[in-house]
Amino acid sequence: MRIYFDHNATTPLDPEVVEAMFAVCRDEFGNPSSVHHYGQRAKAALDGARSAVAVLIGAEPSEVVFTSGGTEADNLALRGAAAAAAETGRRHIVTAAFEHEAVLNTVKGLTRAGYTATVLPLDASGVLSAGLLREAVTANTALVSVMHANNEVGTIQPIAELSAIAHEHGAVFHTDAVQAAGKIPVDVRALGVDLASFSAHKLYGPKGVGALWIRRGVRLAPVLTGGRQERNRRPGTENVPGIVGFAVAARLAASRLETESSRLAALRDRLEEGVLARVARTEVNGARGCRVPNTANISFAGVEAESLLIALDLEGIAVSTGSACSSGTLEPSHVLKAMGLPSHRAQSSIRFSLGLANTEQDVDRLLEVLPGVVDRLRSLTPQPAGSNE
Ligand code: PLP
Repeated sequence: MRIYFDHNATTPLDPEVVEAMFAVCRDEFGNPSSVHHYGQRAKAALDGARSAVAVLIGAEPSEVVFTSGGTEADNLALRGAAAAAAETGRRHIVTAAFEHEAVLNTVKGLTRAGYTATVLPLDASGVLSAGLLREAVTANTALVSVMHANNEVGTIQPIAELSAIAHEHGAVFHTDAVQAAGKIPVDVRALGVDLASFSAHKLYGPKGVGALWIRRGVRLAPVLTGGRQERNRRPGTENVPGIVGFAVAARLAASRLETESSRLAALRDRLEEGVLARVARTEVNGARGCRVPNTANISFAGVEAESLLIALDLEGIAVSTGSACSSGTLEPSHVLKAMGLPSHRAQSSIRFSLGLANTEQDVDRLLEVLPGVVDRLRSLTPQPAGSNE
């Protein structure tokens, strides 16, 4: 029996998504920009998909721009908004140290191109303080980017409050909502943001497809050059099968959001309580009351997280030590470091991210094998004095 607890890295395709994508691959090969019958059929599929994604996030279909994933959506948001704002003379960007690399490295790139950036620290709660943002935003700030839910610890940010602060100073507000959509309700208007990024493969859709929501009226320069697709905002022939798969995934996510999120929260709590009760010297990372329902990040003192990941994999249980993009680096998680956790704790932390197929039996199987695995790993590493409770 194999158990997958790494849904924040990616999710399996929902069978309904596979079916819809297969049908489009087979039947709708037209280019949606073509005027003839084949093109118009593909365009109809694209329009339907745009509406479905818009419904999931409380948007107008015309505000949804399809991209090749969350990374491209983040790049388009940040580079596009920065370029548009530079015309007004604003050249300052504010973001937070626990953002995904797609945001952090894009901001870094923008600083090399002459923008200045403030990267805000977090505390152990993993929730960004509105006070810190208030101190950082100035009349020169073009853009503020803060993620909706963190991918490693799952903490949900007070986006409505943060976007209001950015707007008081006339700055554009972007949120990377890749890890929020499908897990908690995301209503872009209620959040008060201007730009929001999404990715299909985090909600049982295909990889390589995402979207940037651009509030009507927000100025954004395209990043790629080419044709006039996506209302001149993202050139290139659209990935129609992938986009239709994204739309089916979005519809399914909306229809099961309520039941699935309470089911997952109960499973996650069972996992966390079980680990804390059965394995000594464990701690949950991030504010427990303020997280997406599927994510638990737990540190196991005196255990190298990579070794624990491999040992669990040998038992048929897939977990992760942080974001899939930085796995294999042996660097402590930049998220846990940004939250002020000491390196040794960051290096002993494991993320369990649950999803649709997980059951109580999966959690119980983990709880059955984990204490023995942790004991064995601890016995192989010298433990600090007084740590054998
Ligand atoms: N933003 C966040 C918060 C993510 O977790 C991810 C995926 O790991 C991305 C962006 C990148 O999305 P994609 O894999 O679709 O490029």
